[in-house]
Amino acid sequence: MSATSWKCAVAETEVVSPGLWLVSTPIGNMGDMTVRAREVLQAAKVVCCEDTRRSGRLLAAISATPERFIVVNEHTEHDAIDTVANLVTSGYVVALISDAGTPAISDPGERLVRAMVERSLPVWSAPGPTALVAAIIVSGFPTDRFVFEGFLPRSGAERRERLAEVSRERRTCVLYEAPHRIERTLIDLVESCGAERRVCLTRELTKMHEELWRGTLAEAVTHVQLTEPRGEYVLVLDATPAITLEITDDDIVGALNDRRGLGLSTRDSVDEVATVLNVSRKRVYDLATSTDNPGANSPKRRKN
Ligand code: SAM
Repeated sequence: MSATSWKCAVAETEVVSPGLWLVSTPIGNMGDMTVRAREVLQAAKVVCCEDTRRSGRLLAAISATPERFIVVNEHTEHDAIDTVANLVTSGYVVALISDAGTPAISDPGERLVRAMVERSLPVWSAPGPTALVAAIIVSGFPTDRFVFEGFLPRSGAERRERLAEVSRERRTCVLYEAPHRIERTLIDLVESCGAERRVCLTRELTKMHEELWRGTLAEAVTHVQLTEPRGEYVLVLDATPAITLEITDDDIVGALNDRRGLGLSTRDSVDEVATVLNVSRKRVYDLATSTDNPGANSPKRRKN
C-alpha cells in the first residue's frame, strides 16, 4: 500500500472534513460529551450506530439531525463497508458511534476503519470517554504500561489460555465484564493469578451508582457474592507479581462463615474456599468440621 496522509480541517476552520469519523460518546454521564463530538455529529449527514433508537435519543439531545442512519454491529459491519466507502468517496462526513464510549474498543469499528485505510480514505477521531481509561486511571495501579484484554473468551481452551496469559502478565491488566459473569471471571482469575493478586473493581463509572472497590481477588469474589452484581464492570488487575501472603486459619474460618451466611452447604463452602484461597481442601475441611463444633477450633497461624 502506498503512503497516504490527510489533513483534518475541523480544528482550524470549524468545517468538518469529509471522511469516516470515530466519535466517542459518554459512558454514562452526558456531561462527558465533548464539544468536538457534538460538532462532528451535528455536521454528519450519515451516522453509523449499533442501535438507531438509542443513538437517535442521544443525537436528539444534542440537536444533531443526520439524513441517514446505517446500523453497524458485529453482524452488519462487514456489509456496511462498501456503502460507507462510497459515501466518504463522495465527500460525506460519516460519523461512527457505539452505544457508549469509544467505537472500535470492544465495539464495532475496527473492520470499518481497516477497510477505509485499505482504500486510502480519510479516517478521523473525535476522542472522549472510554471505560478502560476511566478505570485504569483511578485504580491506583501502574499506568505507564498496561494491557487491555477486553472481554475474556466465554469458555473452553481459548478462555483457559487467555487466563494463563493474564496470570503471566507483568503489566497492569484491564478487563471488561458483564454483571452476570463477574463472579465466574473473578473465581477463574483467583485460580490463574492467585488469591492475593490485587484488583480494582470499577462499576457504573460516571453514573449515579458509581462504585470503586479495591482488594485482593479472593476478597473480590466474596464482595460480589455478598452484593448483587449490577451494572457495568471494569476489572483492573495489579501488575505487581503476587506476593505470597500467608493464609491464616482465621482467614479460612472467616471465608467459611461468609459462605455459610449465604446458605451454602458445608461441602460447597469447603470447595469454594479451598479454590478461592488456594489452600488444600483437607485443611479447609478440617477447619469447617471443627467450626461445626464450637470450641474445638482455636485458629493458629500456619503456612498453606
Ligand atoms: N466502547 C466502550 C468503551 O469505550 O469503553 C466499551 C463497550 S463494551 C460493549 C461494554 C463494556 O464496557 C461493559 O461490559 C463494561 O465492561 C465496560 N463499560 C462501559 N461503560 C461502563 C461504565 N460506565 N462503567 C463501567 N464499565 C463500563
